[in-house]
Amino acid sequence: LVSRKNQQEDTVVSIGNVKVGAGKPIMIAGPCSVESYEQVREVAAALKEAGITVMRGGAFKPRTSPYDFQGLGIEGLKILKEVADEFGLKTISEIVHPSHIELAGQYIDVIQIGARNMQNFELLKAAGDVKIPILLKRGLAATIDEFVHAAEYVVSRGNKQVMLIERGIRTYEKATRNTLDISAVPILKQETHLPVLVDVTHSTGRKDILAPCAKAALAAGADGVMVEVHPNPAVALSDSAQQLNIEQFHQFLSSVRQSGLLK
Ligand code: PEP
Ligand code: MN
Repeated sequence: LVSRKNQQEDTVVSIGNVKVGAGKPIMIAGPCSVESYEQVREVAAALKEAGITVMRGGAFKPRTSPYDFQGLGIEGLKILKEVADEFGLKTISEIVHPSHIELAGQYIDVIQIGARNMQNFELLKAAGDVKIPILLKRGLAATIDEFVHAAEYVVSRGNKQVMLIERGIRTYEKATRNTLDISAVPILKQETHLPVLVDVTHSTGRKDILAPCAKAALAAGADGVMVEVHPNPAVALSDSAQQLNIEQFHQFLSSVRQSGLLK
């Protein structure tokens, strides 16, 4: 169903008034984790000022170590909603359990399915049973074919509002956290009709190369870019090393906009 052979025209995913896949790329930004009302509010104010309308923020955090911050859970989703309503923003947050899929719709506008859950088939089925837009991340070591089949799980249950996001894959290269597979963008655009985005933060894990990677993604045909922003990355409860502070975010954004690839 997600194949270009089955449907010629691009799927356009609506996040409120924001249309993803309609030819005008979007920027999604926000903290790795929702940590507090004040933290999210500070990021939201910066996004609003920069003309960004979709904010991300993790409430259920799939962490490598069980001793690391696991996220605020439902409380985090409530914070996102409160702040988003105040600033008129749309929100994206990861859901990790099928039983939270329906509930999530009360608080957030897009459900993210994380890299670690790309082949959590029960979660994919639950995501397919609702009408909430889904942002599906490529698995840590997933082939493009496996990625596309994961999307098929969601769409085949009836939820056609699916966006794919390349977030880097595991290779032998150590210079970046993961290897950004830029070729996945044109391949996914050719082989499916779904919007394709690129997460420059988790793919590179390096603040110093985010702007060129974002430009490369857009030049390759991506429908959007995602980046992590935190008011004070040094004290962030997750992904401290790779999040931009607000000033760096404004610089990043103006650099990407100067390329003419992002409005
Ligand atoms: C995230 O975007 O918050 C995240 C955990 O990323 P990934 O699933 O790509 O590792
Ligand atoms: Mn993160």
